[in-house]
Amino acid sequence: MKVTPVERLFILFDETANILQEELDCTYLEALAESGENLFHNDILQDSLSEVTRKRLKRKYSDFIIASYAPEDIRKAFQLSILKGMKGHIQPNHQMTPDTIGFIISYFADKFLGAKTDLSVLDPAVGTGNLLSTIINRQGNAGQIRAFGVEVDDLLIELAYIGANLQKQQTEFFHQDALEPLFIDPVDLVVCDLPVGYYPNDIQAKQYELNASEGHAYAHHLFIEQSINHTKPGGYLFFLIPNGLFESDEATKLHTYLKQTVYIQGVLQLPLSLFKDENTGKSILILQKKKPGIEAPKEVLLATLPKLSNKEALDKMMLGMEKWFKENK
Ligand code: SAM
Repeated sequence: MKVTPVERLFILFDETANILQEELDCTYLEALAESGENLFHNDILQDSLSEVTRKRLKRKYSDFIIASYAPEDIRKAFQLSILKGMKGHIQPNHQMTPDTIGFIISYFADKFLGAKTDLSVLDPAVGTGNLLSTIINRQGNAGQIRAFGVEVDDLLIELAYIGANLQKQQTEFFHQDALEPLFIDPVDLVVCDLPVGYYPNDIQAKQYELNASEGHAYAHHLFIEQSINHTKPGGYLFFLIPNGLFESDEATKLHTYLKQTVYIQGVLQLPLSLFKDENTGKSILILQKKKPGIEAPKEVLLATLPKLSNKEALDKMMLGMEKWFKENK
């Protein structure tokens, strides 16, 4: 049976991570990060390894010239390995953004931004980097994308950094709380699978208009405000939001803030089959930052995306969307 490049890469990541995990007595994900570093530097960087393990690893790596693999194949294989390492060990808010959602956001980002030769993109909750890498790989002009990722978790940002290196992406990573000041110039495009919940730092939350009237603020609201602040006038923002975003106790404030700063372009509800149950369902919120000369769309693009396997419903919806783009863009 023919083995695909993604399978070959996954086997390599997986086998080498297993060897390193055993010898370094660490988690699978930490070992995966170590293996990714080895591959990128074409060397074995862990000094404490026994000679036998070193030889075993060398044999595994020796057949691979990582630069000869397509970035998208590397992303998929690395993603599969991360998923394996995350199984049962990761809280829902830290989960990687699934490919289907990345592809949908990428499709709409292309539609809204058009053919741009020079694009800057920020993911302020970059996690493993899977969503950001998907966007970069699917933009035809990946070489001219300046990308920025922010993440508070040290292991996730390490994986994101290694993944980006292996895929030859020029992404700058910032290991920090994204709701503290960011030293990143405004970008053309923000993508973010929002971490949903309370933000514990009440002092920092005071810097935001969307701070809660009492108690802790919602981190996801502050992320939206921070992202808008870091977007160029006329730039776009794509957020993965919980379906109930506009129904919470702070929703009126959020709505007023959005009305002042952006045009809501669309709200696309994702098929519920992508989520565990109705309560965890999500939508894609599409915003454009206000700029003199730019007008609001005549109507907001509202749609519930059908199951992607339902070709007939999908085609029908695409037609509706093309019509919306003709009339509003
Ligand atoms: N798109 C990511 C991916 O493909 O892996 C997944 C994003 S995950 C849903 C949300 C991320 O936000 C988590 O990795 C979490 O650690 C991060 N996060 C939560 N609060 C944060 C904060 N205040 N600053 C920076 N990152 C934060």
